[in-house]
Amino acid sequence: MPHQGRHFLHIPGPSPIPDRVLRAMDMPIIDHRSAQFAELAKAVFRGSQTIFQTTGPVIIFPSSGTGAWEAAIVNTLSPGDKVLMVETGHFATLWRNMAVRWGIDVEFMPGDWRHGADPAAIEARLAQDSSHAIKAVMVVHNETSTGATSRVNEIRTALDKTGHPALLLVDTISSLGSIDYRHDEWKVDVTVSCSQKGFMLPPGLGFNAISEKARAAAKTSKMPRSYWDWEEMLKPNANGFFPYTPATNLLYGLRESITMLMEEGLESVFARHKRLAAAARAAVTHWGLEVLCQNPAEYSPVLTAVLMPPGHDADQFRKVVLETSNMSLGSGLGKVAGKVFRIGHLGECNELTLLGALSGVEMGLAKAGIPHRSGGVEVAIKTLEEPTLANAQSHLKVVKN
Ligand code: PLP
Repeated sequence: MPHQGRHFLHIPGPSPIPDRVLRAMDMPIIDHRSAQFAELAKAVFRGSQTIFQTTGPVIIFPSSGTGAWEAAIVNTLSPGDKVLMVETGHFATLWRNMAVRWGIDVEFMPGDWRHGADPAAIEARLAQDSSHAIKAVMVVHNETSTGATSRVNEIRTALDKTGHPALLLVDTISSLGSIDYRHDEWKVDVTVSCSQKGFMLPPGLGFNAISEKARAAAKTSKMPRSYWDWEEMLKPNANGFFPYTPATNLLYGLRESITMLMEEGLESVFARHKRLAAAARAAVTHWGLEVLCQNPAEYSPVLTAVLMPPGHDADQFRKVVLETSNMSLGSGLGKVAGKVFRIGHLGECNELTLLGALSGVEMGLAKAGIPHRSGGVEVAIKTLEEPTLANAQSHLKVVKN
């Protein structure tokens, strides 16, 4: 049956694109060697620094997030280097696999896919490494496959406490622009991100925010690279240009999405995501289903991964939801395929879109015959009405503006 109205895209990225961003990209292509282009590029470089919370360079590749992962590896490391990574879920595993393919000696701390990276375990491992064999610690800030975040600030503290000189490389692909993240304050060396999540853009831009230390490491790195070479990029970037044809219209969109994030205020953006996530979890818990992430301090503000009751297939359930409500939910990935579905609530998302999504889930649970307690949507509404700290912060911001 054909559906009326908009498709509800509630996967944890790509996230829905705001109309303002779509309109901003609806522009004739311009000469990427013109003064007009340089003005656009300089504006997005400056704006991106604000979002990454850095005063250092932010490199923008025409690529997916995976390309930006590769750029982080090939610019900072050399074949045979040892790195420490943590198995937080599917994306940490894919990044590990990539590093292995580049000849990196990866120590992969095992994880149960229900927690973020443990700062205490990282500290203990670094403390043992008195010869400083570990060249980098690589973590995923928001593990999109599980809905668990890692406490990057505490991982930084672990490095500082042990006096370990390893680089800190962080994947913020599904957190940047939605969850508080501070590249400079947390002394991250490479922050990897992309366009299709918190920036609310189509896929196609990959980001590396880089520290002085990372840039120095690039000078001695022996990894072969060409397209991803930071210095090749930074030279023309200084004048607002790229070494090759940039993704011009995505940059128009990026300028607009940065403007939107700044208009709302980053603090309010972060508070909104936390508030919506709390409402989503309240509904899930009321239904009698289980949130995959087990540590409340690590609950993701951008998505909620939900465990299916035994004997029920998550993909079959998602199919029912798509057919009945024209809504896409995220699938379980890797080890949790078929066992979880994921509700994305990031980017262009507000109370009513979230409640619409939760209604679709609740209707789907009934239709698919999944045992649950009805009334989760009402509980979510009540949660949104509560004057939580997150609500109060967001209110202050609105008043200030
Ligand atoms: N890392 C995380 C945390 C992700 O969520 C994703 C994609 O969803 C990736 C890496 C890979 O990014 P891309 O699919 O843009 O290459």
